[in-house]
Amino acid sequence: MSEKENVRTRFAPSPTGFLHVGGARTALFSWLYARHEGGKFILRIEDTDQVRSTEESTKAILDALAWLGLNWDEGPFFQAQRVDIHREMVKRLLDEGKAYCCVCTPDELEGKRKKALAEGRKPKYDGTCRDKNLPRSASAVVRFRCPDTGVTCVNDLIKGMITFNNEELDDLVIERSDGYPTYNFAVVVDDAQMEITHVIRGDDHLNNTPRQILLYQALGYDVPQFAHVSMIMGSDKARLSKRHGATSVMAYKEMGYLPEAIVNYLVRLGWSHGDQEIFSLDELIRIFTFESVGRSAAVFNPEKLLWLNQHYIKECESERLVEETLPFWQKLGVDTSDRDLLKRVCGDLKTRSKTLAELADASLFYFTDNIVYEKEAADKFLNKGIVDHLTAIADGLPAFHDFTKNGMETFLRAIAGERGVSLKIIAQPLRVALTGRTVSPGVDEIMITLGKEKVVKRIRKALAFIAAKA
Ligand code: GLU
Repeated sequence: MSEKENVRTRFAPSPTGFLHVGGARTALFSWLYARHEGGKFILRIEDTDQVRSTEESTKAILDALAWLGLNWDEGPFFQAQRVDIHREMVKRLLDEGKAYCCVCTPDELEGKRKKALAEGRKPKYDGTCRDKNLPRSASAVVRFRCPDTGVTCVNDLIKGMITFNNEELDDLVIERSDGYPTYNFAVVVDDAQMEITHVIRGDDHLNNTPRQILLYQALGYDVPQFAHVSMIMGSDKARLSKRHGATSVMAYKEMGYLPEAIVNYLVRLGWSHGDQEIFSLDELIRIFTFESVGRSAAVFNPEKLLWLNQHYIKECESERLVEETLPFWQKLGVDTSDRDLLKRVCGDLKTRSKTLAELADASLFYFTDNIVYEKEAADKFLNKGIVDHLTAIADGLPAFHDFTKNGMETFLRAIAGERGVSLKIIAQPLRVALTGRTVSPGVDEIMITLGKEKVVKRIRKALAFIAAKA
């Protein structure tokens, strides 16, 4: 196997909430890199925080990844099921004198922290228990003996070379008193044992990386490559949060976004390929590398996401669009049994909808003959002057059979010609009769989608409405 075929990346979310767009982008970069290199993408759920982890979050994260199409080759592995392995590795470090037990109480530590701050020093564990050789016990945490001197270098694939002074690093806790490993320890053991070659994650973890490198070395593991992806910010340059709009990936699904729009949008947050904006997944797999990932934070732009969604709705096969829109129609109480009708409706509306929810909303007139006319539209267009024209259409249609775009246009032009008026004069009242509104897909498209009978019925109803008005 070549070195490249050995590439193994992972996504390691903590199941303490939904999948955030930032997390999804990290997962996407990690997935893309594995696919680009023909390697493997591993999913590990980091659920060692017993209080905050929930099964519900795990499910939400898996659902969101599946919806985005980010399939994993191995896992999901659950970190909490590996605690015995972590304990074993802690024991190894203790036996080798690379770690020690510490019984300083939280109150004592807090007191020392405050004192250090008051004296203008950087708070750091003072090593009280370092050389006491205390036994592992229910009240003890285990700390890693961090080197006091020297430097640790992170050669990051995105950020470049970053050097940390070891003396700045604390004797970090690797096992809590409840026997569970801390994040920094478990992540190293798991990444090493799962043979992860590239750790790709948010740059909020950059400061953890030198500590983790020291742990890799202490445990005798190969150090993987690191790629720290920059944060996502709102337009005000603050870290992306709820006040900038939805941050949960699945909230976008519920608002009627297509997954390919989200993927396309997320990949461009911090990665670029010339001026190109639209990418298929296959193309991304082919061209994605870290060289084109930016170092600075990316700004989340909801309008651009909406623009991409509109693009992908327009490009979507009508058959699939029907499937994607079903939940939105069902929510609106639409009878979705006639799939052919739904397909035609999608055909009419896909060039004019920004979201699936918008498409479903705009389609309601197709499903009821009981058209409610918008007041302004009815006042302006459903009047005596149009009665003869509409009657001519309703009378002429039953004998007309060419229900194609061309056929429909010819038919309407012929009616207008016979009556000596322009097509415009009859098109708008016809639209109001068929839809109740002045904005809709082309009347010819609507007539084809609705079919002859419904069109005639709706025109007759509009004529009755005009008659009743007088
Ligand atoms: N569970 C950690 C998180 O969700 C993983 C960080 C990492 O990828 O190392 O932040």
